[in-house]
Formats: sequence, C-alpha cells, structure tokens
Amino acid sequence: MGRLTKGDDLLEALEKFCREQNITLGEVRALGAVTQARVGYYNQAERKYYFLDLAQPMEILALVGNISLKDGKSMVHAHVTLADAEGRAYGGHLAPGTPVFACEFAIHEYQADQTLSRQPDAETGLLLWPY
Ligand code: ZN
Repeated sequence: MGRLTKGDDLLEALEKFCREQNITLGEVRALGAVTQARVGYYNQAERKYYFLDLAQPMEILALVGNISLKDGKSMVHAHVTLADAEGRAYGGHLAPGTPVFACEFAIHEYQADQTLSRQPDAETGLLLWPY
C-alpha cells in the first residue's frame, strides 16, 4: 500500500510503481482525489476510444484495475469512478491526463508462476489476454 505524490499522473504513477517494483501480475485499488480527469469510453461499433475531459476537482470514489504485461512491460488497466461537488458520478477507462491531488493505493501482487500478456484481439479490436 502507498501514497502517490500530488501532481503525479494517476495512471502513469501506478504503472511506474509496478515497473519499479517488478510487479507483472496483480490487482490495484485506489481512492483519493484528482484535480481533473481524462477517461475513455470504447465505442464498440467503431472500435475506437473516445475520451472525456473532466476539468474539475473530483473525488476518486473507486479505482479498480489489473496489472499484466504489454510488450514485456507491466501495464495497468484501470477503470475509475469519480464524483463532483454535488456527488454526481463520472467514470470510465482511466487515461493519462488525470493529475493526483491525493491518492492512496493498494496493490495485490500475484505470484507470477503465470504471466498474462496483452495481444491484439480481432473480435473486439482491443488489446486483451488470450482465453
Ligand atoms: Zn478499460
């Protein structure tokens, strides 16, 4: 468990931590606050991510993600639910462009007797694990 630095990019800082600690398989959870956010929505018909820029300070109600390999390096895939001052929730696929105000995270590392590596998936157009 740990804390990210104010001003860190939320996704990039979690990924950097995993790479530095050699965590290649696991789960991540976090809560705290961000000063703004960028989240993605995958349009399934178009097979394309659309990004939403939320230009306001918000609470991180929940961040849930997994850690696996992409091109041999640790990659964090995280989804996030955020709340504004009125308690309205926003969320999506966490993207770079989400600066931390304060963030506490927990990582559960799995013993890497297996590895999961993301590959292009023809059915969805996404980078996914093999079945
Ligand atoms: Zn996603």
